[in-house]
Amino acid sequence: MSDFDINQFEIKLEPFYEAQSNEVELYTAAYNAKLPVMIKGPTGCGKSRFIEHMAYKLDKPIITVSCNEDITASDLIGRFLLDANGTRWVDGPLTLAARHGAICYLDEIVEARQDTMVVIHSLTDHRRELMLDKKGELVKAHPDFQLVISYNPGYQSLMRDLKQSTKQRFTGMNFDYANAELEASIVVKESGINADIATKLVKFAHATRNLVGHGLDEGASTRLLNYAGVLIASGVSVKDACNMALVCPITDDAEIRTTMNGVIDAIF
Ligand code: ADP
Repeated sequence: MSDFDINQFEIKLEPFYEAQSNEVELYTAAYNAKLPVMIKGPTGCGKSRFIEHMAYKLDKPIITVSCNEDITASDLIGRFLLDANGTRWVDGPLTLAARHGAICYLDEIVEARQDTMVVIHSLTDHRRELMLDKKGELVKAHPDFQLVISYNPGYQSLMRDLKQSTKQRFTGMNFDYANAELEASIVVKESGINADIATKLVKFAHATRNLVGHGLDEGASTRLLNYAGVLIASGVSVKDACNMALVCPITDDAEIRTTMNGVIDAIF
């Protein structure tokens, strides 16, 4: 265990991130105070990119776990594995981060079952420790350890919300899509298309976001705009790229697709 190399989780190249407001300062203050942070916002708006950027800036390794409903406490904490020499304990991502001093980023935490998330409680209060019951070890968190979770308030139903007892262990930051000008410049940077097309793509994304609650669960994200940009940059027609990246993924409804195609024709 002692030969474990936490540096493999370091981010070597600076992830491109353009601040929308004072989120860099706020996050840095929370990190320095070792406060757990919850990042809320729609999918594909830049939450993960922001955390990766901050891990790079703070020069800390980051261990990311994409949560799903099958994830168990053992998947986070660790388990005994059988090998040729008998059984051997293997730390899970949460234990690794706590033991070696990384940022542990639990992405889309509401996807995980609530009982699983109870394991993070002792790490997110004054105790900053994690009990490995099966191993009989109490891990005291490394001073550099921090827990960050992301979640998308749009998705959740009552069944899928976090418990108050979990929520109230975190400081929170609200994220949203960047403003139109910034979002267009992000798409230019990420895909290489020109500013005029990027601005029009963002305009279309806004039209989809206005349909949330009127037939759409969620509008086109910045991530999807980047996809559209990359397709256009590689020679795909604007209309095909918009359909492939911005329409097809977000709706199964033929009527809404027709409406959106009308909007694409009007914008381009
Ligand atoms: P999520 O919110 O689902 O974690 P990501 O962090 O993966 O989303 O963001 C999706 C894309 O959005 C990124 O690939 C990046 O191109 C873009 N993005 C969003 N906001 C910013 C920003 N402020 N600066 C740079 N890129 C951004």
